[in-house]
Amino acid sequence: MDVVEMERTDEHFLLDGEEFVITPALRVRCDGGGGPLGHPVEYITLEKGGQAVCKYCDRRFLHSSHPEVARVRAEGRPFAP
Ligand SMILES: [Zn+2]
Repeated sequence: MDVVEMERTDEHFLLDGEEFVITPALRVRCDGGGGPLGHPVEYITLEKGGQAVCKYCDRRFLHSSHPEVARVRAEGRPFAP
């Protein structure tokens, strides 16, 4: 199944100086947030329960069933990108 990201369902957190995105999608799109901090659009494929890091901006994408999700939600600082 190829699910394209629905951005409003993603959760963004800052934890230990890293940016985490928790998403239920198996395929996400990252452009670094656009504007001066943006980068070329990168499509990233996640496995169920898996994670991936954007090669441009080092954002870490966690699938919503990844084992670290509970810790990131509990200890991370939520923000709106
Ligand atoms: Zn990125």
